[in-house]
Amino acid sequence: AGDDLIVHVAATLRNRLRETDALARLGGDEFAVLLDHVDATAAQTIAQELCQAVATTPLTIEGTPVFITLSAGVTVIDPEIRSVDEAMVAADVAMYDAKEQGRNRAVHYEHEGSQRRHMTDGLRWSQRLHQALEQDGISLHAQPIVDLSTGDVAYHEVLMRLHGDDGTVYEPAEFLPIAERFGYAPRLDRHVIDLAVDLAIRHPTRALTVNLSGTSITDPTLGDWIEARIAGTTCRPGQLVFEITETEAIANMEEARRLATRLQRMGCRLALDDFGSGFASFYHLKTLPIDLVKIDGEFVRRLGRDSADRLVVEAVQRVARGFGKDLVAEHVESAEAADVLRELGVRYAQGYYFGRPGVAETMLER
Ligand code: C2E
Ligand code: CA
Ligand code: CA
Repeated sequence: AGDDLIVHVAATLRNRLRETDALARLGGDEFAVLLDHVDATAAQTIAQELCQAVATTPLTIEGTPVFITLSAGVTVIDPEIRSVDEAMVAADVAMYDAKEQGRNRAVHYEHEGSQRRHMTDGLRWSQRLHQALEQDGISLHAQPIVDLSTGDVAYHEVLMRLHGDDGTVYEPAEFLPIAERFGYAPRLDRHVIDLAVDLAIRHPTRALTVNLSGTSITDPTLGDWIEARIAGTTCRPGQLVFEITETEAIANMEEARRLATRLQRMGCRLALDDFGSGFASFYHLKTLPIDLVKIDGEFVRRLGRDSADRLVVEAVQRVARGFGKDLVAEHVESAEAADVLRELGVRYAQGYYFGRPGVAETMLER
């Protein structure tokens, strides 16, 4: 139904546009329209018409009409807009305002006020990301994943850090959402994989888990790229475990399955990350070729004190084991939580209690 909806919206938009206007899908549920030879007033009117068209053309799914709304951000490419990036950010900032003002409307980008500030922020991050990718501004931290029965470190999860010009180190929460919006995520992921393979070569007895973003899951060339990157090196595919989040896997089920199968055939392993944070579906554990299930830290942090959390972890542990997958509990912050996990027979744990993330090279040498 999601695919039908995208096609339906695209057709509705196409219908209202001129032959000479360009319509593109940016990904997910986002479209871009480039109108030639229109001024600000005309652009605004057309954007409003597009909103109207989508709102009044419901899609019928299994006999039920589904009403859809559109939020549009409009910018005129005037002399103040100096690059493609700036044009995209301006439209994007205006679109977010349209959503905030209640959706189903078109908002025009203004060169002053809060929109300008958001645009400047977006561009600053875009520049920082670009620079970091070009000039070794990305490094890896690593955090141990411990086997609860032996206390040995079974894996290290590598976590990306971004270095600013002034020496500031940024954590992913600060820049990943922006990186995804501006399309940097696939390049960042490849950069991280590249660094991780180097680490794996330098530490042949270590196994690493590497996070993949949603856009990477849908990248049909990623599998080949990883295989080529490892080929001819001493990195064993078995040293690499790729983490995809449950939410992203469900959103891109077919692609996730394809990538998972491809990686597994190469000899790499796969983990389903943040399990339980979306609409946890045990069914997917059965259908995806994954090796590890990482239960979301939200259910783990208060283990020992919260009996509801214990029930959830217990249920996931039983189902995961039933399907032959090992469970990793994230965000283990106390001895109490570790005890409960051991009691439940959970195989692996990761969290501040066992070790905080630190500079990868140092962590792996330990
Ligand atoms: P995640 O994959 O769930 O990674 C675990 C996060 O939890 C890490 O945050 C880690 O520092 C933090 N953490 C570990 N133990 C504890 C604990 O005991 N308590 C609490 N409260 N937190 C703990 P970090 O490094 O800031 O990464 C945040 C997220 O950014 C990651 O969540 C992951 O989704 C994403 N990320 C990190 N590195 C990469 C990367 O190289 N590529 C991609 N695509 N995403 C990454
Ligand atoms: Ca992860
Ligand atoms: Ca996680």
